[in-house]
Amino acid sequence: MSNNVKVHSGKKRAKRVGNISTNTDLTGQTAMVTGASSGLGVRFAQVLTAAGARVIITARREKKLAELEQEINRQGGEAHSFALDVTDLDKLPAFFDTLREKNLMPNILVNNAGMNVVKPALDYTPDDYRQVLDTNLTAPFFLANEFARHHIEQGSAARIINIASVGGHNVLPGLTPYCTSKSGIIMMTRGLAREWARSEVNVNAICPGYIETEINDFWWQTDGGKKQIASWPRRRLAGKEDLDGALLLLAGPHGSGMTGSTISVDDGQYI
Ligand code: NAD
Repeated sequence: MSNNVKVHSGKKRAKRVGNISTNTDLTGQTAMVTGASSGLGVRFAQVLTAAGARVIITARREKKLAELEQEINRQGGEAHSFALDVTDLDKLPAFFDTLREKNLMPNILVNNAGMNVVKPALDYTPDDYRQVLDTNLTAPFFLANEFARHHIEQGSAARIINIASVGGHNVLPGLTPYCTSKSGIIMMTRGLAREWARSEVNVNAICPGYIETEINDFWWQTDGGKKQIASWPRRRLAGKEDLDGALLLLAGPHGSGMTGSTISVDDGQYI
């Protein structure tokens, strides 16, 4: 091994906030997570905190956000919560102005907020369709724009991590608009990475497999849900913690050469 290569040595460097420990060092960085009131967004905020980042947590449910903010701050991290409906596109420039004014401008953006309307395609209304695409595809585009605009102007390094899905690569029956949005965000990731390649703004995506959260918890106790789990090679749902490695890679120093990449983390569900 070259003397110039530094490998984190495990125990000595591992940091721990709450019950999460990590060797990635994000000290001095500020990470913003959308949809941080439940599920994966909560985990992402906790993991980024454990790595030493200050976190900006945003969502619509202010009470849940306040609880997470208190928990992180009580455990020695630094969280700031803001109510934000990501589909309020006209409000996004002012939202980032507020962050700048408060000296809270993030240099890591996790586009996590997402939703689904579970219906057969033939039952979809234009409003259902718009809601899914507006939340999962249009909002991350404009959030990425407002975030990147700042960093391109400043010439500063920044990371965008888009949360796509295995549904971006695979047909998930009955979830066609959702899969359409997730397939779209994978291409958007590549397109923005290409457009901003001469800046220091990296744009990447993670495609999680099925993990039990509010977005799908109605399903797993049904016969259909149990059958689906039994069809996967490992016959189990993935865990929220399974995404920690990909998140920290894309947010941290080892991900500096990655842009336009999509990482699948599905516990082998779609091999
Ligand atoms: P979740 O329902 O617990 O979390 C989604 C969050 O997004 C919620 O807090 C919700 O309130 C928020 N949100 C929805 N619309 C919003 C809006 N307009 N403005 C602000 N916030 C909004 O589900 P999750 O599983 O944690 O989902 C997080 C992301 O992961 C989503 O993008 C989802 O598509 C993706 N994903 C989840 C799975 C899974 O199996 N859980 C798999 C692949 C991808």
